[in-house]
Amino acid sequence: MTGNGPLIPCAGILDIDAYQGGLSEIEGRANVIKLSSNEGALGPSPKALEAYRAAGENVARYPDGSAMALRTAIGARFGLDPARIVCGAGSDEILGLLARGYAGAGDEVIYSQHGFLMYPIAAKAVGATPVKVAEKNLCADIEGMIKAAQDKTKIVYLANPNNPTGSVLSGDELRALRKGLPSQVLLVIDAAYAEYVTDDAYEAGAALVDEFDNVIMTRTFSKIFGLGGLRLGWAYGPAKVIDILNRLRMPFNVSSIAQATGIAALEDKAHTDKACALNSELLASFSAALRDGGIEVVPSAGNFVLARFPGGVAQAEAADVALQENDILVRRMGGYGLPDSLRITIGLGAQMDKVARVLADFMKGEGHKNG
Ligand SMILES: *Cc1c(COP(=O)(O)O)cnc(C)c1O
Repeated sequence: MTGNGPLIPCAGILDIDAYQGGLSEIEGRANVIKLSSNEGALGPSPKALEAYRAAGENVARYPDGSAMALRTAIGARFGLDPARIVCGAGSDEILGLLARGYAGAGDEVIYSQHGFLMYPIAAKAVGATPVKVAEKNLCADIEGMIKAAQDKTKIVYLANPNNPTGSVLSGDELRALRKGLPSQVLLVIDAAYAEYVTDDAYEAGAALVDEFDNVIMTRTFSKIFGLGGLRLGWAYGPAKVIDILNRLRMPFNVSSIAQATGIAALEDKAHTDKACALNSELLASFSAALRDGGIEVVPSAGNFVLARFPGGVAQAEAADVALQENDILVRRMGGYGLPDSLRITIGLGAQMDKVARVLADFMKGEGHKNG
C-alpha cells in the first residue's frame, strides 16, 4: 500500500448546504395541514393510484430503461417528440445531470437571486461556481443575467414560474434572454409549475427548445400531478442534449412503478384540469384575504404564494408559530434570502379558509400590540 494522505472530497462539495425539504410534522400533532412543499392540493388521480397498485405486482422485473411507453404518453399529452424526451427520478435528477454534462471546475452557472436552491447545489456538486444575479421586484432580471454571462458561463437555470416568488416571465421575455446569452450557454427552463399557469403570454418552453439548439425544458410529476413521493420528472430538449443526459443517467433511473403511474396520471387530463381550476380560484381568494389582513402577497402564477410581513423577520416568524399552533405547516424563507416572508402552498378550500383566518387573527393581535 502507498500513500497516507487524508480522504478528501472533490472541490466545491463541502460548500454545499444540503437541501432541506419543507417540514412534514409538528411534534405531538396528528392532523397537520401541510402547505410547505407545493404538493398538488388534490393529490394524484385515482387512476394513477390504481396503476400504482397494479404495477406493484410486477416489482420483481427491471423497468424499461428507456421509459419508452412513458415518453410516448408524455409526447401525446404535450404534443412533443418522445425521442427528445428523457425521464428522471424527479426533475431534480435532471437538473443535476445537466450540471454534470455541461459545467465543471472553472465554469460558472447563473441563477436568479431568489431562484430554486437546487441550482447552486447542482453547480457546486460539479465544482462549478454558482453566480447569483440580483432580481428586480422579486422577478428574474433578464438584462442582469445577460450581463453576468461570460465565456466561463455554461448554464443558466431559470424557474418559470419561479419558486418561491411565484413570478413569471412571458415567452417573449424568455426569447430575449436566450438571444442575449452567449451560444455556449445552455438555458435550462425549469417549468415545474407550468400546468398551473393561466396567463396567455406564458410559454412553458417547448417552442423555445425547437427554435434554439441550446434550450432545455424540465417538468415534474411532483406538483399538479400530486406524485412527489414517486420521484418522477422529465425534460424536453435538443437531440444532442438529450443524448448527453441518456449517457449520464443511471440505466434504470425511473422505476417500473413510477413509469406505470406516470402514464395513468397523464391520461387523466380531467384531474389536472380540475386541479388547475381549483388552484386559480383559491389562489385569487386566498391572496385577497391575506392582503385584506395587511400582509403583502406577491402575485403568483404557481400553486403557492409568498406572503411578506410588513413587520419584518420577527413578525414572519411569529406568524409561523401561530400557524403551527393551529396545526398548519408552511415554509420559512430564510434560506431563500426572504426571512420576512412565508411561502404558503395553495391547498383545499377549507384549509385555505383556516390559514386565512389564523393569519387575520394574528395580524389583528399585532395591530393591538403596535397601537
Ligand atoms: C418542486 C420543484 C421542482 C420539482 O422537483 P422534483 O425533483 O421533480 O420533485 C423543480 N423545480 C422547482 C423550481 C420546484 O419548485
